[in-house]
Amino acid sequence: MTTAETGVRLLDNYIGGRWTASSSSAALPVTNPATGDTLARVPLSDPADLDAAVSAAREALPAWRGVSVIERGRRLFQLRQALDARREELARSVTSEMGKTIGDARAEVARMIEMVECACAVPTTLQGRILEDVSRGVDAETVRQPVGVCAAIVPFNFPAMVPFWFLPFAIACGNTFILKPSEQVPLTQQLAFEMLDQLDLPPGVVNLVNGGREVVEGILDHPGIDAVSFVGSAPVARIVYERSAKAGKRVQALGGAKNHMVVMPDAVIDKTVAGIIGSAFGAAGQRCMAGSVVVTVGEAHDRLVPPLCEATERLRIGDGIEEDTDVGPVISDRARDRIGAAIGRAAEDGARPVVDGRDPDEVPDGAYVGPTILDGVTPEMEAAREEIFGPVLSIIAAKSLDEAIEIVGQSRFGNGVSIFTESGAAVRRFRHQVQAGMVGVNIGVAAPVAFFPFSGWKDSFLGDLHAHGPDAVEFYTRKKTVTSRWFSSGQTSGTYFVEN
Ligand code: NAD
Repeated sequence: MTTAETGVRLLDNYIGGRWTASSSSAALPVTNPATGDTLARVPLSDPADLDAAVSAAREALPAWRGVSVIERGRRLFQLRQALDARREELARSVTSEMGKTIGDARAEVARMIEMVECACAVPTTLQGRILEDVSRGVDAETVRQPVGVCAAIVPFNFPAMVPFWFLPFAIACGNTFILKPSEQVPLTQQLAFEMLDQLDLPPGVVNLVNGGREVVEGILDHPGIDAVSFVGSAPVARIVYERSAKAGKRVQALGGAKNHMVVMPDAVIDKTVAGIIGSAFGAAGQRCMAGSVVVTVGEAHDRLVPPLCEATERLRIGDGIEEDTDVGPVISDRARDRIGAAIGRAAEDGARPVVDGRDPDEVPDGAYVGPTILDGVTPEMEAAREEIFGPVLSIIAAKSLDEAIEIVGQSRFGNGVSIFTESGAAVRRFRHQVQAGMVGVNIGVAAPVAFFPFSGWKDSFLGDLHAHGPDAVEFYTRKKTVTSRWFSSGQTSGTYFVEN
């Protein structure tokens, strides 16, 4: 349907420095999950749109690589200023299309800007290395050069930040870039690309192709794309990883998660409750770093569960755009029904819904699931093993720290994990043994800042180089090592060497 028929804006792609209508007529509605209102329509672009983006990105490569690294850094400073000037607009866009609270959305936009700040350091981070005299009169040096055309495929839960785990680093390193946003939340990146459009980049340095599976599959197979970054669910991460690698591309694929929070008997309970609540129910549990299983050790169970349930019952559910909302909607009615069914199956498996959010009181029409706590969960239950991606927290009781570490290790995922305790020895043992890529100590959501790498282990991550931080420069550059020797020992073009 066209804009004229529906009265709703049909989004454009951004290709070769211009806003461009998709050549496909297929489109999906973009919905505000808090109200059910249709915000826009997103085109399901076709292979011709992707081909145009790849051609534009390839053509732009020599011009962009020719821009000095210092000037590339300056453009990123300008981008940072533009994002900062419109940060509230970006945050409101995140809330309206994704549903998270405006406080969460502001924090996300702050992280998005921090990514650009980190990428601004490119004149330092891109430096190579040199070693003189690797043999008599022979020097070796390694320089970093761009990989080429890089693409990123991103999920719905961080419409602002996750695309910026990649875009600023890719272009800082001299690559050109194609973004495929989530078709469920394409609007915030339309705003970001309005700002990129103002930067006076050579046409084709950054490109935006809206769409779904067809665009993704096109990216994986396209001979004109050199590197692929993916963030999303574990099954799709595996497809992306295997298919991109088969096509000879550099690839990093960040997948799903099931994150544990271990609570020791000596934990500071009020701070622990606050940390767990933020971790489990922030963004309505739709974070890859959401804490979704609490493992209590010994008497921590009885100290923790009553105040945790009380605090959970006090949370205010509603439209995330209201400043006093604690928990917004989930992304769609389909997600709400899927999460409700997972809670039902957990109860059938023997878990006790001590706080049950399946039918929340006094909520507006929209995709709402209230925060839910399942006590009496055991490690083999589905509620302990599978990602629910909603505001559902399972509680497993363990007798010892070692048993808790073993329970964490049984998961096929290994994204984030936290421990709450005042014991340095327990922390040391935990961080040394635990099978996960990101560890929090008395921190509920231990998502690394932009200056450190972000990634999990096991089924949460396929690839070698993690997202952002120093790994981003590694991912977005190819190393070239030059070994050199010079023979002149006398006069050359007016230069004199003195033999020694
Ligand atoms: P998703 O896998 O459904 O979609 C991610 C992207 O893949 C989207 O752009 C989508 O268009 C595309 N896609 C979906 N199905 C596809 C298919 N069959 N073939 C090709 N492409 C396909 O994920 P989502 O629901 O948007 O996001 C939630 C998931 O992302 C959760 O599992 C969450 O844990 C994960 N996630 C992980 C991280 C991390 O850092 N590990 C960060 C954020 C989100």
